[in-house]
Parts: sequence; C-alpha cells; structure tokens
Amino acid sequence: MKSEIDDLIDAWVKVVKEDDDEAMATLVGQQFVRVRKTAKVVVIRPLRIAASRLTQDCYGTQHVALCEKWAEAECVELRKERLRDVVSRLREVGWGDELDLMKEDNYAPLSKLAEVNVPEKLTDTAWSNVGREIIKGMESAQTRRLARELDEKLHSRADIMESTIKSLLRRPELWPYRVGFGDIARMPEVREIMCAPDSEDIDAKFAALPTQFGDMIRRWKAHVDDQLLNKYVPDFDEYEYPRRAKSYKRLLSLDLATTRFRCERCAVEFGWDCDLYYPSVLSHDCLHGETEWMDDETDTVYAHFVEEYVGSEGFYTYRLHAVPLTTQARKLFELCGKDTDTVTAQEMDALGVRFVRDEEYIMTWRAATSSSQDPDGTWRMATSGEASKAQKHERRIQLEEARWFCRTCDEPQHARGWYCRDALRHLATMHGGVTLSLECEHLQALPGYDKSQDDFQFKLDSLDSDEKAKRVYQL
Ligand SMILES: [Zn+2]
Ligand SMILES: [Zn+2]
Ligand SMILES: [Zn+2]
Repeated sequence: MKSEIDDLIDAWVKVVKEDDDEAMATLVGQQFVRVRKTAKVVVIRPLRIAASRLTQDCYGTQHVALCEKWAEAECVELRKERLRDVVSRLREVGWGDELDLMKEDNYAPLSKLAEVNVPEKLTDTAWSNVGREIIKGMESAQTRRLARELDEKLHSRADIMESTIKSLLRRPELWPYRVGFGDIARMPEVREIMCAPDSEDIDAKFAALPTQFGDMIRRWKAHVDDQLLNKYVPDFDEYEYPRRAKSYKRLLSLDLATTRFRCERCAVEFGWDCDLYYPSVLSHDCLHGETEWMDDETDTVYAHFVEEYVGSEGFYTYRLHAVPLTTQARKLFELCGKDTDTVTAQEMDALGVRFVRDEEYIMTWRAATSSSQDPDGTWRMATSGEASKAQKHERRIQLEEARWFCRTCDEPQHARGWYCRDALRHLATMHGGVTLSLECEHLQALPGYDKSQDDFQFKLDSLDSDEKAKRVYQL
C-alpha cells in the first residue's frame, strides 16, 4: 500500500511538472475507477493524505484546486452512499413514511446528522454503533415536523376560537371571577377542539362549546378557590404532609369573615397594602397579568400558541398571601358576639354594624378588622344612628363606583359596563326609570363592585357635613 501511494504521488508530480493534461486526466480517471471498485475507506484515506501531500508539493501552482477537487469528489460520493445505506436501514425498521416526507429535501435533516454526514462506508459495526443516535435524530426530526404542522393548524383555527371565546366572555356569571380570554383558551375543552384532527367538524365543535361552558367555569372556579385556600395552608404542610394539608384545608372556608389576602406586588410596587376580601379579590388586577402552566403543559405546542396568540394573560395567585387575623380584629368579632373561627362574611354583613375608632373614624366590620388598622386604637360599636348615616354615604359611593350592565337588553356589548351616568341615561330612555339601585330589575352592577368590597371608612365628623363624606383609604 505504502509503495502504491508513493508510485501514485510520483506519477502525479510527473504529469503536473510536464503540464500534460491528457496524462493527468487518465491518471485521475484510473484512480477513480480503482477506488469505486474497492470502495474501502482504507483506500480513500491514503489518497486524501496523498492529495494533501501533493498539495504541499505543488503549493502555488494552479493544480492545487484540481487535486483537492479530486479528493473531495470522492468524499461526496461516499457521503451519498452512506446516506443511501442509512435510508435503507431506516426503512427496514419502519421509518418509511417519515423518510418519504424528507425525500424531496434530499433527506434533510437526516442527511445533516453528524452520524450520517461522514465520508465513510456504513458497515454493520458502524451501524450498530451509531444506529441508535441516528434513530434518535429521526425521532426528534419527526417531533419537530409534527409540532410545525400542529402550529399551522392552530393558527388556521385562531379566528373561530377568538370569536367563540369573545362571546362566552360576555356571560355575566363570569364577571365576579373576571375570567379572561387566556383562561378560557387554556381550558382543556378548547385545547381539544383546537388540536382535533382535520377530519372533525371544528365549526360544529366550537358551536357546541357554550353548552359545556357551565361545567368548565365550575371547574375553573373550584381550581381558583383551591389555590386561594392553599394560601392558608402553611408551606411545609402542603409538600411534606399532603394528607395533613388536605384535612387542614377542610377546616377552612373562603366564606369565613376572616378570609383576607394581601397583594405582594401592590405592597412592594405601589406601597398599597390594604386587605383584599373574597370574592372581590378574584378581580384584583395583579391576579390577571400573567399565568402559570401546569407541569405537564410546559413546552407543548398548544401552550406556545396561546402564549403567542393571547399573551401570558391569565389567572395566577402567586402574588397573594393569606393575612392572619390580628388580636385586635379578634376582639372586634367577639364584641359582636361572634366566634372568630366560624363566623361567615354573610353573617357579619347581616348584622349591619359599624365600628368607631378613637372617636374619629367610623367604618364597616371589614375595614375595622383589616390588618392595616393601628393595633393601639380605642374601639366601640357605632350607634345605630351613626351606622345608618355611614350606610347612606357607602351606598352613594357604591353606586358611583359601580359599572353597569342591562340584563334586559344584554347591553353594553363591551365587558367593562357603563359608568353611573350612562347607566342612568339607559334606564331613563329604555325602561322609564329614574334612580339607580344595586337591586334594579334591569341594571346589574359589575365587578368592580360587590359586597366584599365594603371596607368603607369615613371621618366621623364628616357624616353630617353638607359636603359629601369622602372615603378614607389609609389611616
Ligand atoms: Zn498539484
Ligand atoms: Zn396587587
Ligand atoms: Zn336595558
């Protein structure tokens, strides 16, 4: 072998020196034929080394390129042959359909795999070494192709999804929870239709979605409630002692008067650290900005589609903390003759009581038992006269702050509702009414307004003044 190569080199150097084109062509042709016949890597490798030696010998001559081409052409041929071998071996193990899809693109991305794109013959031994890697490469190429096709399908169905969800969002039963577009798009029922095979009638499936929607919302609400209740379970319990955490949770109810949360984002970014009550806490802005994915949904095509199409908007409670009851608050519940551990918000509301602090402020039970109250205050129950004056002001503010929607006319079309003035105009022109009330038979108040936002607090001496008593937010 060694002398064969030397002979070849000598012959090559000779034809180059003589600049004999014909002799050169003959020599190259002979070597091609020889290599083809033996098709052994051991042959081509010395040839390549020979070529590189010749390249040095002939450095600076116009023949360098020719020599390199000669060796390169052989490499290309070997690569092609290896690819053909790989393809036929893969067909034998059932990759035929996937290979047919790659055929048009000369088997890319298979042909670009490091184990395939080698100028070496694929022996049985080589296949047993790299076959597994090559099949892994096929699997991931298939996964990418399926993902690409699914993504195209999802985008082609985006319009009908959007119009369906938008009409579902107008249902008034959703508003207390402020269910958003992203929340619905992420529900499994919607996902299933979006990912269904083309053979199914997608329009019909979307048209049928409203009949399932009640159940979808009930499940969503249960999930949300569960997340809120979890805020009351000490961290270590939930993970280390799931059973204990479960029984702990059973003792708690979101309906308790002591249920309250604080938003970390509001506290840190805006210095606003008021308590949030249930259920109005559900419509708090910071809980709707970005959502989380369930563990099994991360990195799926559908998750990325929703992220791309809707954004990260969705319900997420990680910024909320449960707020423990202060000793002072406990005393105030007792002052009303109630058991702090069992009294519900509804029972407290029914009492209609107001509290007076330091003879300066009058407030509802929510405001009085809020964790932001000064622990050193002096408290008493408000007289019924004081309470009814405060209630009058509360009612006025409730009406001013509410957003309105007409149940009778199914208006306005946008989900944020009318301001007080527009609602009054609608009431007068359409229903002959003149006064708004939270119990109106036509107009319904939207969130932001519900009973759980009754954390009113006024200066005691402002109740009688001609000026409207202003709500006091911070002490
Ligand atoms: Zn040369
Ligand atoms: Zn917040
Ligand atoms: Zn109306």
